[in-house]
Amino acid sequence: MATIPVLPDALSPAARAFCERDHGLLIAGEFVPAADGATFETRDPATGNAIAAVAQAGAADVDAAVAAARAAFAPAAPWRTMPAAGRSAAIWKLADLLEQHADELAQLESLDNGKPVKFARHVDVASSVAHLRYFAGWPTKIEGATLPISAPNVHAYTRQVPVGVCGQIIPWNFPLLMAAWKIAPALAAGCTIVLKPAEQTPLTALRLGELALEAGIPPGVLNVLTGDGATGAALVEHPDVDKIAFTGSTAVGREIGAVAGRGLKRVTLELGGKSPNIILPDADVEAAVKGSFAGLYFNSGQACNAASRLMIPEPMFDEVVGALAQAAEATVTGPGLAPDTFVGPLVSAEQHERVSGFIASGRDEAQLVAGGATTLEGHAGGYFVEPTLFTTSDDDARIVREEIFGPVLVAQPYDSLEEVAERANAGEYGLAAGVWTRDVSNAHRLASLLRAGSVYVNCWSVGDPSAPFGGFKSSGIGREHGREGLSAYLENTSVFVQL
Ligand code: NAP
Ligand code: MG
Repeated sequence: MATIPVLPDALSPAARAFCERDHGLLIAGEFVPAADGATFETRDPATGNAIAAVAQAGAADVDAAVAAARAAFAPAAPWRTMPAAGRSAAIWKLADLLEQHADELAQLESLDNGKPVKFARHVDVASSVAHLRYFAGWPTKIEGATLPISAPNVHAYTRQVPVGVCGQIIPWNFPLLMAAWKIAPALAAGCTIVLKPAEQTPLTALRLGELALEAGIPPGVLNVLTGDGATGAALVEHPDVDKIAFTGSTAVGREIGAVAGRGLKRVTLELGGKSPNIILPDADVEAAVKGSFAGLYFNSGQACNAASRLMIPEPMFDEVVGALAQAAEATVTGPGLAPDTFVGPLVSAEQHERVSGFIASGRDEAQLVAGGATTLEGHAGGYFVEPTLFTTSDDDARIVREEIFGPVLVAQPYDSLEEVAERANAGEYGLAAGVWTRDVSNAHRLASLLRAGSVYVNCWSVGDPSAPFGGFKSSGIGREHGREGLSAYLENTSVFVQL
């Protein structure tokens, strides 16, 4: 039986009105109920209350959405006959609409995911706009080449053509931004899309789908299926999907990679991380503490590239750990819609349980220096975890090796630069790494030694739509953003014309 949604008072009329609407699946430009009428609730992580019911897509809905995307990809369909400049204008218009509705989108994101509304507005929504604008510039610059081949009297050239129908499956940590990262290059390339948001955070993807129609992106080009892991699996298995793009856990990524491999679908995977963040003896300690703190606790630690494993020179260890513990204790934990919150609740009861499990095992295998509470006074029912800090020199500890995806930092001492690089590279992941130093040669030396898709020097998590993002090893396959991110949505045709 469905419960009655409970919306917080802080919600704006626009966000409230959106929550209170019926939420169908976006298929071929229409919002429709699931074929079997199934729905599920999405919750406010600050209270555990249901905030909206959305349609639960099953296999029949996946079929319908893929058919709509295929029809929209037909050679004579409006999206395919639209000049590149028209595609460009439509993507730019979508960015404008996101900007116009930025406050509403930020509130929906904060309510659905739990993140502080100011970050939702100035990071999630702002970066989504930036991604769309960057990729809006690409359609008119997708060029082939003429080839100086050896066969006589043959004119040879290449064409860069869209891959086709793309299944895009995204996680709950940056719901709108992950949707923008996925759809922007696909639209720029001229592909059509079936987007599957995470079950914990379906709202902004639905609003995005609506705004895409308003922007003039033809019906069927962007379809949005709310649902669960089974919906995602049906999309990955569907024989008429040409490419899968996935961001999420390494475990699910492995499974998707295997299924996509059997189906010979193109696939890009952006997976987990456990990113080493190394402070060198010559670092600006104040900047390193500030940056390392934000690098992990931002978004309640729910970021694939979170600075989750801090490595500190032995002689500075107590000073740095003390400063971090002080910062953790001074941090405001609370509901995302409260203006002063820095650390919001985790996204779901399941995630809360998972992170609480890591804190419990951390108490056995490491030293707890700050935090550790998994409830917040006055917020029973919310999925809160206090900013937590552990220390240990044991590289085999579970909290050192595994991705926690919560506000739990582990700090470790080290002796030498060579030793720390080797230890940092020994983990299973390779998404990001960081170095804090005033010595330019040490900065470049470590940047060349660390096996990670992004290396941050004297900063953390700087990013740009033009800068490739992705991981080594178990952190994934392929890169998003920039020219490389666009290429993942293009096929090459070599054409030979006997003259
Ligand atoms: P997840 O299961 O990997 O979910 C990511 C997306 O994949 C969601 O849309 C999910 O749908 C969908 N999905 C789940 N099973 C699928 C399957 N068999 N085939 C196709 N799609 C499938 O991640 P999670 O369980 O939400 O989070 C667990 C852990 O993953 C976290 O604790 C964290 O360590 C990691 N994680 C990493 C990232 C990242 O950015 N790299 C993001 C999120 C989570 P439903 O959500 O609807 O089931
Ligand atoms: Mg939710």
